[in-house]
Amino acid sequence: MHSRIFSRGVMVLPASASCLWVVVMLRVGFVHGMSMPTKQRHPQNVAGSLFVDHSCIDCDTCRWMSSTVFGRTKAGLGGQSVVYKQPESDAERKDAYAAMVACPTGSIRLETPDPLMREVIGSFPRLIDPSMPGVFHLGFHDEMSFGATPYLVAGFAKDEAGNPVNVMMDTPRFSERLAKAIDAVGGLHYYLLSHKDDVASMEKWKARFPGVKRVMHEADITTTQQWPYIDTTSVEIKLPGSEREWKLLPGLSAIHTPGHSQGSVTFIASAAFTGGEACAFTGDHLCFSSRLGRIDGMGRYGWDTNLQADSIRRLADEEFLWILPGHGRRYQFRDETERHAAITKAADDFKKDPLGKNAPGPVFSVVSQ
Ligand code: SF4
Repeated sequence: MHSRIFSRGVMVLPASASCLWVVVMLRVGFVHGMSMPTKQRHPQNVAGSLFVDHSCIDCDTCRWMSSTVFGRTKAGLGGQSVVYKQPESDAERKDAYAAMVACPTGSIRLETPDPLMREVIGSFPRLIDPSMPGVFHLGFHDEMSFGATPYLVAGFAKDEAGNPVNVMMDTPRFSERLAKAIDAVGGLHYYLLSHKDDVASMEKWKARFPGVKRVMHEADITTTQQWPYIDTTSVEIKLPGSEREWKLLPGLSAIHTPGHSQGSVTFIASAAFTGGEACAFTGDHLCFSSRLGRIDGMGRYGWDTNLQADSIRRLADEEFLWILPGHGRRYQFRDETERHAAITKAADDFKKDPLGKNAPGPVFSVVSQ
């Protein structure tokens, strides 16, 4: 994989690199200029207390968490989030402040402190939707995974013996406050890793919850000498490459969906496991694209897009109504018919045009401006 991406000169990423390289280059100012003070207020914010500074890595998190407040400065790489409308109602302020908590780079700030902030920090894990009462957004996105979304499943999931289990999906940045919130719902028993790019602060969570069993495909296990230079050799459950599907727990399965990386896995939680509708944790394999307005694979920074298209098709017949991705937007299907049609179309479209270059509109979504 070689990606030519930057508008300020061409940069060729190494074959094993991924979106984490973008984080590194943005943080050293490759895109926005070495002399740019990263903590300065971005001039395209509207006037008011809430603002985004220049350290934003354009991970999109604030824009989907608080879409009436945050937008993107411009199309193309080099875009960043800004505040295009100051939050007004309590609900709007809560969503905007939740995005502050989730922001992986601490780029969103208030000039005037708001007492509501304390309440919002304590609101994670946040219920995603009443149709899945056992599935939560953990917030606290980690810069090392380019702000991938971490989740918690708690309250309904059980192991083979009928004991309650809590499951973390991918990795929030480490926060003792968040760890205590997880303690309060019973701790952590399983920790699912969708692929190597989103491992991030895994070791800190393992140290805090030493009994947790981590699950990852063996093809994505790395040492400190291999991208992303994180040692995952101690992962407790390594899914073997020779199989395509594993039943991990009653109501929780893992599907090998190679393409974005060799060892990418989609974890599917059944209705019994979530306490409501079934969902698929897709990592960086599949998401809703706000730009295309449909389900799409994530072709950028991938390993083998042709194989990824085949892996997308594999999910069409699995039973779930929600896509909960690492990057990109989540999506709730109306029913099984819509899911099958949308994923089949996504596989076809992705096979022909994995980067969506021929789709109408800008290469990256423009939420505002
Ligand atoms: S969450 Fe933070 S890093 Fe991500 S787009 Fe918003 S401001 Fe930028």
